[in-house]
Amino acid sequence: MGEFELIARYFTRPVPATAPDAPGTAGRVVLGVGDDCALLAPAPGMQLAVSSDMLVEGRHFFADVAPERLGHKALAVNLSDLAACGARPLAFTLALALPEADEDWLAGFARGLFALADAHGCALVGGDTTQGPRNLCITVLGEVPAGQALLRSGARPGDDVYVSGTLGDAALALAALQGRLPAHWRLPGAVLAAARARLELPTPRVALGLALRGVASSAIDVSDGLLGDLGHILRASGVGACIDCSVTTPLIAAYAELSSVRGQFGSEFDPATDGEFLRRYTLAGGDDYELLFTAAPAQRVAVAAAALSSATPVTRIGRIEAQPGLRLIDAQGQPVAARYASFDHFAPHACTKAEKPE
Ligand code: ADP
Ligand code: MG
Repeated sequence: MGEFELIARYFTRPVPATAPDAPGTAGRVVLGVGDDCALLAPAPGMQLAVSSDMLVEGRHFFADVAPERLGHKALAVNLSDLAACGARPLAFTLALALPEADEDWLAGFARGLFALADAHGCALVGGDTTQGPRNLCITVLGEVPAGQALLRSGARPGDDVYVSGTLGDAALALAALQGRLPAHWRLPGAVLAAARARLELPTPRVALGLALRGVASSAIDVSDGLLGDLGHILRASGVGACIDCSVTTPLIAAYAELSSVRGQFGSEFDPATDGEFLRRYTLAGGDDYELLFTAAPAQRVAVAAAALSSATPVTRIGRIEAQPGLRLIDAQGQPVAARYASFDHFAPHACTKAEKPE
């Protein structure tokens, strides 16, 4: 199968019907795959939100991950960036390097990709296809009313800090796949499978991002770990924050299970080391793709309404302060003396995210 047959068979679909007055993004795509450029027609008064994310085999995903899940994740991590800006998905391009044209792999990948794309009304409008080590790069385009995008720079002292959904389960699954989980945790298969689904099938919080326009003062999506990504908000906004670890630690969905492990294996469960593991997963795990955002206390009812209307749980985890830096506290309000590095691809000793141990 040649390059053009591959594109025609797996990545070319009809442009969505044109309905200029339809809500959402219908009608914005004038020309899709097949010419030198795609053509989009942004609606008046809207700004285009553009973001790219690349997934590299061995670094962001295991070579043997299910292709359908990979198709989902490649788009999900990009939609998550739109969500963080409060932008509505419109279209995306797909640049693909593949070692060979494996039809089963391509069919699975396309299935996962288009299932998520269709769920968000986001059309594939172009891309590039080449032979090489497996590498997926998606650029996503969204739209947001001019001046209403959520930015990292809007957090103000006194604002509440919130995070959506759960934290740390993706990192837990990665540790399990790499054989790094403490042996005595003995998590049931169903719990590990649910954690693995968080790693391989993240849910981009698009509806929440849209509902937070005009409510949140700043936002970011959590890809490299809660504290690292919060650090980006703090630097961009010129503020500091205090985060309550007694609220964030139970946000790992496996927490209830681990608490029962604690009951069963009482003496084996060491609050110092096991508790520290949990804190590390939730605060610095990475790959969560939840929204981390701030909002003034006067917006608490509006934040609750946004969570309700988007059917996305949110938890208040701390407060923005004028004093720069990040402070962690426990349930008693006592400082937690710990520093957590978030994932950094170019850190001197960054371990590879998705390499299985020998
Ligand atoms: P060009 O050489 O003009 O850049 P290509 O020959 O690479 O274009 O691609 C032909 C058409 O197929 C273009 O419209 C391009 O956007 C599209 N395309 C190429 N690869 C992909 C892909 N992986 N997914 C979707 N569209 C693709
Ligand atoms: Mg061309």
